[in-house]
Amino acid sequence: MQQFPTFVTHLECSLTGKHYPADQLHGLSESGKPLLVRYDLEALHKAVVKQDLISRLPEFWRYREFLPVRHSENVVRLGELMTPLLPASKTQQQLGCGEILIKDEGRLPTGSFKARGLALAVSMAKELGVSRMAMPTNGNAGAALAAYCSRAEIETYVFCPEDTPRVNIQEIAFQGAKTFLANGLINDCGRVVGEGKQEMGWFDVSTLKEPYRIEGKKTMGLELAEQLDWILPDVILYPTGGGTGLIGMWKAFSELEAIGWIDSRRPRMVAVQAEGCAPIVKAWEAGERHAEPWQGAHTIAAGIRVPAAVGDFLILDAVRESGGFAVMVSDEAIMAEHRECARTEGILLCPEGAATMAALKQELATGRIRADESVVLFNCATGLKYPMASEHHRIDLGKQIDYKFIQQA
Ligand SMILES: *Cc1c(COP(=O)(O)O)cnc(C)c1O
Repeated sequence: MQQFPTFVTHLECSLTGKHYPADQLHGLSESGKPLLVRYDLEALHKAVVKQDLISRLPEFWRYREFLPVRHSENVVRLGELMTPLLPASKTQQQLGCGEILIKDEGRLPTGSFKARGLALAVSMAKELGVSRMAMPTNGNAGAALAAYCSRAEIETYVFCPEDTPRVNIQEIAFQGAKTFLANGLINDCGRVVGEGKQEMGWFDVSTLKEPYRIEGKKTMGLELAEQLDWILPDVILYPTGGGTGLIGMWKAFSELEAIGWIDSRRPRMVAVQAEGCAPIVKAWEAGERHAEPWQGAHTIAAGIRVPAAVGDFLILDAVRESGGFAVMVSDEAIMAEHRECARTEGILLCPEGAATMAALKQELATGRIRADESVVLFNCATGLKYPMASEHHRIDLGKQIDYKFIQQA
């Protein structure tokens, strides 16, 4: 059996700091809070140097020392490529601001960054002998779960709000998950998963309710640091639902700093939400550490329609520690940027990615982001999964072709 060099020492309750043994199946801690994976960073530091990465494949398993999988045969792979950082130069010029880079996560398997988290969660589930999993999802997480679980021969049950984007519902079912639509929101679906645990004997892989999705999302921070030659941007704008990515990147930066791969300069983390569902923004503005569940959540950006996040305090802690802030944008602004970015930059964002662009423009105007700051925006999924307005024209091949009409179209 090929061993991965693994430096996991234990798991730790993110609220109380209580330790839990690694190499066992865990959900939330006894306090009902997320568990974080802890590593022997000193040993890790001795085992790997930056230059070792150069000879490795351009995929996130290149950071295997920072990840919890012990046996390489448990790694479930679908081609977890490093995603590009695309300059949005024209937008930058128009706005007269610092460098704008878009990390385009839509290139990952199943078309979203949920693949990072689920690749890790499913690999660890395989390592720990899980044979049946369940999750509530707004779409992309379910799709990634279905794909990785089918590949790992793990049975899956996925519960979606009935207005989840069509493509997501279809891809989840098509990739082999038992798929159910429910007349409620993601939290209601989460209750179905939680309450069915005993009877159905499934492992609950909801956002932050198991320790490993966050380790997968952490690779965004490791990858970003490596791509920017270990000098992080001034600001990161992250479309925040459950917050796994924001928390994961913040954890990555701590680990990198602890081993001296980056210095103490950290980006300001900006949590971007939609006006129709902004529990984290409300808590941030009120100076609270925990967020109240949002009533009547609605937004076209389904991925960030999360009325209550178990890791709310971890998101808020990271935002505050970083000197960042939480901000909301309107669905109108999201739709406008969705179209604008496709036209000016040739980048088809997902609505959640468009929300970060809308937030950037809004906050450059208010001055909360300064014109001399470099920013990284996260586009979390391929824009191809989402509805687009029809803007084409028709021609009739049975008639004389009217090239004037074509020219003026
Ligand atoms: C899940 C998702 C998000 C939110 O990610 P979290 O890390 O859970 O906050 C944003 N955008 C898209 C497209 C998503 O699928």
